[in-house]
Amino acid sequence: MPVVNRVTEVLIVGGGPGGLAAAVAARLEGLEVMVVDRRRPPIDKACGEGLMPDGLAVLRDLGVELGAGQKQAFRGIRYIDGETVAEGRFPEVAGAGVRRLHLHQCLVRRAEELGVDLRWGVRVEKLSDSGVETQDGPVNARWIVGADGLRSRVRHWAGLEAAASKWQRFGVRRHFRLQPWSDCVEVYWADGCEAYVTPVAADEIGIAVLWSGRKARFDRLMESFPTLANRLEGAEVVSRDRGCGPLRQRSKAVTRGHLALIGDAAGYVDAITGEGLSIAFHQATALAMALRQGDLALYARRCRDITRLPDAMTQLLLWIERRPALRRRVVRALAREPAIFSRLLAVHCRALPVRGLVLETAPRLLWRLVQS
Ligand SMILES: Cc1cc2nc3c(=O)[nH]c(=O)nc-3n(C[C@H](O)[C@H](O)[C@H](O)COP(=O)(O)OP(=O)(O)OC[C@H]3O[C@@H](n4cnc5c(N)ncnc54)[C@H](O)[C@@H]3O)c2cc1C
Repeated sequence: MPVVNRVTEVLIVGGGPGGLAAAVAARLEGLEVMVVDRRRPPIDKACGEGLMPDGLAVLRDLGVELGAGQKQAFRGIRYIDGETVAEGRFPEVAGAGVRRLHLHQCLVRRAEELGVDLRWGVRVEKLSDSGVETQDGPVNARWIVGADGLRSRVRHWAGLEAAASKWQRFGVRRHFRLQPWSDCVEVYWADGCEAYVTPVAADEIGIAVLWSGRKARFDRLMESFPTLANRLEGAEVVSRDRGCGPLRQRSKAVTRGHLALIGDAAGYVDAITGEGLSIAFHQATALAMALRQGDLALYARRCRDITRLPDAMTQLLLWIERRPALRRRVVRALAREPAIFSRLLAVHCRALPVRGLVLETAPRLLWRLVQS
């Protein structure tokens, strides 16, 4: 259907998880919403596909049903560094591995149910005074939301792009028909790269590899993880490799006038902590509330609260990742203090306040680091 001369209250550029969650949340606030995406559903993307417990809770509040058979629960995170294994558990509620294709279908279904005007195969080409120009014509809107991902053009057109980082990290993923052997997301550490194993179904696992430096291929990267590579020997590959990067993209601000950015478009540090989706879902509800009140400053403030801790944790982990000797010590310390690892995870998925972490956990972890 052409979009020529359409007028809407909220126009969302990008129908990925961030854009669709924002559309659902805005409809629930009673707003009229249109989403345009240059691709057609279901949309796949390079991703570790692990949803943290707090991200799952937001999806539930938005009425997005993931269905029982199409997701696989995980109860914590396991770090594997050579012979050292450290494991942290979520406090009560589990996270879930969900294939991107399935997640996308569920979000689309919920958006359709609520009457979001979804326009697939429509590329936005620039911003205009009253909305955007697409290849099919203009769309006018009171509010524009840039949910167009890591390399957001909306962020660029709005003058919100910050300088690129010289430190480049990339990601690539592949799926295997294999029964998950763990009820955790496993992170295998090697110098300069990590492999994330996420159970996504009763008979399927996804592997995402993140690394620093130049572009590389999945098979080449797997040479750094011989134990994991052995486990995968002979397993059927059930997806096409998908890559992504450079991962670090920054924005100067998340709003300008009547425009707001959400998800990766709003700025992205790295996938090392596996919470991009959860952040986008939290932002979606914050944005919808701000749009209903007609005040994007509310969103900007809430966004800072949502991203402050994850960004700090991600920066810290990246700093450690670049120092292999320190990284090994940290994993050894966490292996000796599983309760601390679990506590860090609880803060990470917003089940515990950060205050307790600084006062009690950090000194103990530092002491263990000295000993390791
Ligand atoms: C290797 C890797 C592993 C990851 N692992 C995890 C994990 O385990 N857990 C987790 O929570 N997060 C993870 N992430 C992060 C997560 O994938 C992202 O945070 C998430 O996809 C962001 O969603 P989004 O909707 O903002 O962007 P996207 O999913 O990128 O969606 C953007 C949409 O905008 C559309 N678009 C772009 N330009 C235009 C245009 N001009 N006109 C119209 N449409 C347009 C695109 O077609 C796309 O559909 C990982 C990321 C990587 C790279």
